[in-house]
Amino acid sequence: MADQEFQKPTGTQDIFDKKQRYFNKIYEVSRDIAYQYNFETIETPIMEKEALFKRSVGESTDIVQKEMYVFETKGGDRLALRPEGTAPIVRSYIENDFYKKPQPVKFYYCGPFFRYERPQKGRYRQFHQFGLEVLGKDSPALDSQLIRAFYQTFEELGLEVTFKVNSLGDDSCRPDYKEQLKESLEPDLEDLCKNCQERFENNPLRILDCKNEECQEITENVPQIVDHLCKSCKKKFKSVLELLDEMEIPYELDPFLVRGLDYYTNTVFEIFAGKGPALGGGGRYDKLVELLGGRETPACGGAVGVERTVDAMREADIDVTEKRKKVFLAQLGNSAKKKAFELFEDFRKEGIPVYESMGRDSLKSQMARADKLGAEYTLILGRQECIKGQIIIREMKSGKQETVPLDKVVKKIKKKI
Ligand code: AMP
Repeated sequence: MADQEFQKPTGTQDIFDKKQRYFNKIYEVSRDIAYQYNFETIETPIMEKEALFKRSVGESTDIVQKEMYVFETKGGDRLALRPEGTAPIVRSYIENDFYKKPQPVKFYYCGPFFRYERPQKGRYRQFHQFGLEVLGKDSPALDSQLIRAFYQTFEELGLEVTFKVNSLGDDSCRPDYKEQLKESLEPDLEDLCKNCQERFENNPLRILDCKNEECQEITENVPQIVDHLCKSCKKKFKSVLELLDEMEIPYELDPFLVRGLDYYTNTVFEIFAGKGPALGGGGRYDKLVELLGGRETPACGGAVGVERTVDAMREADIDVTEKRKKVFLAQLGNSAKKKAFELFEDFRKEGIPVYESMGRDSLKSQMARADKLGAEYTLILGRQECIKGQIIIREMKSGKQETVPLDKVVKKIKKKI
């Protein structure tokens, strides 16, 4: 056990071994699918100006009020460890004049994010996400395609997911709806939880997704935003849903889905596998680029939590262990060692990982290592074999051995594993 003083910070983790394989798989698959849908990878800094998140995520949100890691640099800048990925990408879009590129521009990102939350199962202070963002064009087809790209990613990972979707309208219908919502909640204001009483003034929509049971009872019968959308928002939402139907993407309408952040307009969605917590979510944010000082730019995007996806994969018994049989290369004597180095490279070029322990000299200790690693085959290259240009393939379980020409061994092993 490391000295208490040096243990990793609460809510963070060392990711290795099996968990690392899940992470790798999720990054690999999400990047491949993103590539197939023409998303370009972007990396933005892990820290940004605090003001970026205050403005975009919203002053009244939990993220900004309670969860951001904020610090002052020696030069006096106030920076925040990024709590989410959309605001940095919008900043980057503006700062790099991406509006000059053919629109829409589509970005894929992945990496660590930071929120000072109470750690529990599936919730960390440093967690990981991959995300997709589409900026520069407004079309319901883009919302649907975004959802589809996430859907395909999960399908490729072997996870069956469903989406919850809702529309939050826009500036022409949401303010009216907010008033109606407040009117309907007002008689029960005192029975709402303390948080919701505060939200009532500055962010009433958030009352709809409060987890408190009493609040949920109160909101059960309030007016729903889908019934109060203006004509244009209604039309857009209908198109999104029609396209989802056409692509046979499983979804349900959830009038209580509002997402936590201030910047969403129109479509919002969350992704679920079974009964667990949301794996991810996103939506359209047509006002955000302007809010951060850019020109009017429609956009949509979403992000998925890697840790939650790992949990869901484990729950669904999705295995990511390397299925390929292990091969160990043992050598005896100086000339064999040289040959073994060459052979190792031959295997590597064919994409076959071979275990070895070139640092050990006795065959016994090398065989013991092969055993410990669970190697299916051990290749033995001794002095005799070296001279004859041969090598022994030993099947570890049965102890059966065959001697084959050195230049045929890669091909032979390739067939066996
Ligand atoms: P959000 O934008 O807050 O909905 O986050 C999107 C996804 O990121 C969530 O659905 C989770 O999968 C993941 N996520 C958010 N916060 C955390 C956290 N503290 N720990 C682990 N995963 C998180």
